Amino acid sequence: MNNYLNREIKFLTGVGPKRAELLNKELGIYTFEDLLYYFPYKYIDRSKFYRINELNPNLPYIQIKGKITGFEMIGVGRKKRLVAFFSDGTGVIELVWFKGISYIQKSLLLNTEYIVFGKPGYFGGKYNIIHPEVENALKAQHVIQAKLKAHYNTTEKLKKSFLHSKAISKLQNNLLIHLKGKIKETLPDYLVLKYKLISLEKALFNIHFPQNPDILKKATLRLKFEELFYIQLSILQKRSFRIHKSHGFIFKKVGENLNSFYETNLPFELTNAQKRVLKEIRKDIGSGKQMNRLLQGDVGSGKTLVALMSMLIALDNGFQACIMAPTEILANQHFDTIKEFLDGLPVNVGLLTGSTKQSARKELHENLMNGKLQILIGTHALIEDTVQFQNLGLVVIDEQHRFGVAQRAKLWKKNVHPPHILVMTATPIPRTLSMTIYGDLDVSVIDELPPGRKPIKTLHLYDSKRLRMFGFLKQQIEQGRQIYIVYPLIKESEKMDYKDLEDGYESITRAFPPPKYSVSVVHGKMKAEEKDAAMELFVKGKTHIMVATTVIEVGVNIPNASVMVIESAERFGLSQLHQLRGRVGRGADQSYCVLMTGYKLSNEGRKRIDIMTKTNDGFEIAEADLKLRGPGDIEGTQQSGLAFDLKIANLGQDTQLIQYVRDIADEILADDPELKKKENQLLAYQLKRISNKKVDFSVIS
Ligand code: ADP
Ligand code: MG
Repeated sequence: MNNYLNREIKFLTGVGPKRAELLNKELGIYTFEDLLYYFPYKYIDRSKFYRINELNPNLPYIQIKGKITGFEMIGVGRKKRLVAFFSDGTGVIELVWFKGISYIQKSLLLNTEYIVFGKPGYFGGKYNIIHPEVENALKAQHVIQAKLKAHYNTTEKLKKSFLHSKAISKLQNNLLIHLKGKIKETLPDYLVLKYKLISLEKALFNIHFPQNPDILKKATLRLKFEELFYIQLSILQKRSFRIHKSHGFIFKKVGENLNSFYETNLPFELTNAQKRVLKEIRKDIGSGKQMNRLLQGDVGSGKTLVALMSMLIALDNGFQACIMAPTEILANQHFDTIKEFLDGLPVNVGLLTGSTKQSARKELHENLMNGKLQILIGTHALIEDTVQFQNLGLVVIDEQHRFGVAQRAKLWKKNVHPPHILVMTATPIPRTLSMTIYGDLDVSVIDELPPGRKPIKTLHLYDSKRLRMFGFLKQQIEQGRQIYIVYPLIKESEKMDYKDLEDGYESITRAFPPPKYSVSVVHGKMKAEEKDAAMELFVKGKTHIMVATTVIEVGVNIPNASVMVIESAERFGLSQLHQLRGRVGRGADQSYCVLMTGYKLSNEGRKRIDIMTKTNDGFEIAEADLKLRGPGDIEGTQQSGLAFDLKIANLGQDTQLIQYVRDIADEILADDPELKKKENQLLAYQLKRISNKKVDFSVIS
């Protein structure tokens, strides 16, 4: 279809091979289309021309039309500058350059009408503009006129080659003149009509050269609509294929394993949320379709148990199951927990991590192949090629955001048929985001904590209150509780005034001296065995305080720990703070989270602390996080690569639009699942085109 869109950028008037190379390297622009979809980041109103006698020192940007009446070179060395006196008949203003002086003087003519644009300064009774944009007024007439002037992001390297924002705008100008009348619609007419969108050509034209603010809004909407719509369409279509076409193992039976676990080993009542989620899972795995389910549940909501019971169903149907955890500590903990849960039952459970010895490994491999080993728990080690199952039926991935898409796909390949997949995460993801990043997954939510948990009390203390805080910790220890103290990553920030773990550890051992007190320490630079040994002491209640970096962030479960102190709390993101806080509040005792900061806090830092002290609700925190940081920083989006691929839409801000286009896509697919109808051919074509171009952002498999 749009063939010229695929032309190499070097063939565009004003580009050529040298600039093309720069555009490739610096902005990833290879084709006409790439440039066309390189959108401005802001607009400045250029409809008004100021007169020099109207100026006041508070104007942000001004545009004047006039002539240069003379030049002067002032100063020497680094202070050397070129001054041009610019007059519009009502007054004179000085245009000043410190760089590129000789080039600029040569290129500017006296007595020629120019349009000058820039931020005015006021000094010694005179107005000036430092490094203004200067444009020949006559030549400007050959440029597409726009009320609002688009500004493009560039880089230092581009600027050095004079590819600044204005130059990019010129290239857009050349491109749009070239493409006039040739830009084909990418949405079917019926959608454009029904949803009152403007045409693609008009939208692209106005996104670069807005004729007025109103049409700019419409152009933005049209382009965002299209971008988000095709993402949703693609995700929903994949999902529908999986549900209607894929074959999954059928786990029909609930048998000996689950039943005896339920009757003799389950130490407590399941919460209603756990029951509901198990029902959802059972429905999936009994359906003959492959399950691809995301299980969201706040820290401590009891996801492990749900995973275990799902695995037991797999076993009851003659299959094997595995759990993959992101860290060795967690894998070990899962192993211990599950062994304990299954105590006395004839289920074979194995552990495979980076530290598993070669001999043990060999035995594991054998028993996996011959089917003796029924449940395998481990880390990344699970996805090594040497690990082969006899018949893997269910894969549980814990704390999913730690794994990249490619890694997950590897697990998939271990079978003729894909196993059922249950992804568990304690990072609540706002709906619109999960709809997009994990769009192909069905979502279950455990929105209820086991009974008897008291909400964690969170308080914010300034560093000056540390002694008082230590006093409080001593009281807690006296009552038999244990304490976490967490620091930002070790050694990362020497220059800044952050306490790092080493200092912290010292001052804590001073405040809590042996033999009365004992302190463990765990950080990322320790060897796995050292970490595990230290962790073990704390888990067993042999140490009172665990000083750690964020390695303890995910999953660790120590019900007797009742206080989480987070040092330099302003340095952590919201989801991280929430995860850390979730390490406590797991037992029946009142738990506390103490956020320590200095007096100086950035606005955002303060907001994060405020949100943390106000709510324990993970979803509320996730929404706030998305608003504060934007989706690019939210865990999970990095791996998906999606947030960075969006040209115009914003997952954090365009939540309503996402829902809107998803409903539209849903409706279309309900009527025409394979997009075979004539009016939907363009949709099918575009989907193919997009999926050929982009990484597959849609999921897990
Ligand atoms: P997470 O969802 O963070 O992985 P866990 O699975 O580690 O949570 O569960 C946290 C704690 O709650 C564990 O000690 C677990 O045994 C306990 N637990 C799980 N379900 C229940 C329940 N229904 N009633 C009481 N305690 C439960
Ligand atoms: Mg967990």
